[in-house]
Amino acid sequence: MERPASVVKELIENALDAGASTINVDVRDGGQALLQVADDGSGIPAQELETAFLRHATSKLNSAGDLAAIGTLGFRGEALAAIAAVSQVTAVTRTAHDDAGSRLVLEGGKTESRDTVGAPRGTVIAVENLFYNVPARRKFLKSITTERRLIDEFVTRYALAYPDVRFRLVHDGRITFQSSGNGNVRDVLLAVYGAEMAKELLEIGDGEFANSPSPISITGFTGPPSLHRSNRGQITIYVNGRWIKDNSLTYAVIQAYHTLLPTGRYPVAVIFVQLPFNQVDVNVHPAKTEVRFRDSNGAFSAVQRAVRRTLVAGSPVRSVALGAGSGPTTSRYPGWGGTLDEEAFARHEHTQPELSDPQQNLNLSWPENGPQDAGTFAGEIAAQPGNDTAQLDLPRAANRGERLPIMRVVGQVGAAYIIAEGPDGIFLIDQHAAHERILYEQFMTARERNEIASQGLVTSATVQLPPDQATLLEEHLEMLADLGFKVEPFGPNTFVVRAVPALLSKLDPATALHAVVDDLETGKEPLQEREEARVILRVCKSAAVKAGQSLSPAEMEAMIQQLESCHNPHTCPHGRPTLIHLSAAALAKQFGRM
Ligand code: ADP
Ligand code: MG
Repeated sequence: MERPASVVKELIENALDAGASTINVDVRDGGQALLQVADDGSGIPAQELETAFLRHATSKLNSAGDLAAIGTLGFRGEALAAIAAVSQVTAVTRTAHDDAGSRLVLEGGKTESRDTVGAPRGTVIAVENLFYNVPARRKFLKSITTERRLIDEFVTRYALAYPDVRFRLVHDGRITFQSSGNGNVRDVLLAVYGAEMAKELLEIGDGEFANSPSPISITGFTGPPSLHRSNRGQITIYVNGRWIKDNSLTYAVIQAYHTLLPTGRYPVAVIFVQLPFNQVDVNVHPAKTEVRFRDSNGAFSAVQRAVRRTLVAGSPVRSVALGAGSGPTTSRYPGWGGTLDEEAFARHEHTQPELSDPQQNLNLSWPENGPQDAGTFAGEIAAQPGNDTAQLDLPRAANRGERLPIMRVVGQVGAAYIIAEGPDGIFLIDQHAAHERILYEQFMTARERNEIASQGLVTSATVQLPPDQATLLEEHLEMLADLGFKVEPFGPNTFVVRAVPALLSKLDPATALHAVVDDLETGKEPLQEREEARVILRVCKSAAVKAGQSLSPAEMEAMIQQLESCHNPHTCPHGRPTLIHLSAAALAKQFGRM
């Protein structure tokens, strides 16, 4: 038992195994003062109550053979004993056969009292003062808000997997999440993600698998390609009703979006994998959050295909035969220009999605003897493509990059790159990366001078977030205010945006805020500075011109001039190159002139 959220997970799993249809979770002080889970399940027979708190006491396996096909969430009989050992537990329970309820009070695992009380059918387990007798553990608990967020995550994830069960989560007396238990997953999605996002999610059809030889069924929801996030955290996978972490299946989902998402962006998906219990080993991880499939390739391709088919079916874009005269088709999804073609997809099935970024399709090859020849900063390029670790390189930082020479703009290619001529050859400039760098240095200078411009919104925007993200946002309101976001809590999990950094004044404030919260989520360590850095990077990235935007000669001139005056002009703030230099010598060599 590492932390409050792990306790909540175990107690919820027990309630679900007991067939509960209502589960109420009460939390005080992020679970450090109290964690209570009440259910209306089967209850524990009076004579078994003490046993339930003994190590290796489980009522869920009858023979060793049962281990090969586990159909319950719990099976080791360890959780209650482990929880009781490090806290003060009060358990009240009654089965349908018992006339009265039983109450057992334990302290550090030892029975303090045992009596008979009136109680409804079901079980209430209250865990107080977790780790009261393990000061070292208690000291290392993260902040109350962090623990709250992890608890929110567990409760909402289980609510999604068990739409028939009515969940209610209360933090310090306030209801922060509840599901109706009406069996409709969409209703739970709505409670978890908010109406806007729930509406967009595409339902994964199960029909195709009915007569396939594979015993695997895939259901759930997946976002349209227009809905993406900066991390994998919103890809949720369940196997037989158990929320698991599985890199391979997560990657199967990502791969289904092959060519559909911008580089470095991840889809939102809730995937339910169902297969015979003997096809999956759940007894491989102490926290039971990982599983091993008998046929892991089968599982991978079932997930990937199911998601891909859903995307194909959900796409209004169809190929138009040339000359058919059926007029242009338009895409419902901004930034999704392509046609979904399953065959073409199949050919690419095993390539990295990263390679498909249209920005990278331009066939630029380095001179024969490698990048060293191609420019003074080639080392930087090789060093950190795609490095997303946010680091603040302040203008005053010691290792200033070399300044750029004066350049003359020649033109724009592919609405993504600016071609410029310098004193020694040609420069290809990535307009988005370059603009990010420019905005970043401007923003950092303004921040040093405490002059970050904030733009009030004429009509303030309301944003609803999933409970875990809402908690995260609440933790950072002050830091965001320093950066120009004036955001106030406005009802449960809802916020009103009153101002945004002036840089973002042209963008939709709700989208801007969502992006920022996503990035906060990426690295959940509560290290203030790194989180601030991520927000700053996000602001600059959102405000920068995108690839695909054509620029006038004057705009390009202005951008080049601003880039020239940057302290670190060679890379964007994420460390990717802003420009590629083809020296006169390298060109001459390529053309066989020397
Ligand atoms: P496991 O879930 O692996 O069996 P636990 O330590 O979590 O082990 O629980 C021990 C036993 O206590 C369970 O096997 C079950 O019989 C009983 N139990 C625990 N919680 C509940 C509950 N909420 N309702 C009914 N029975 C429960
Ligand atoms: Mg259990």
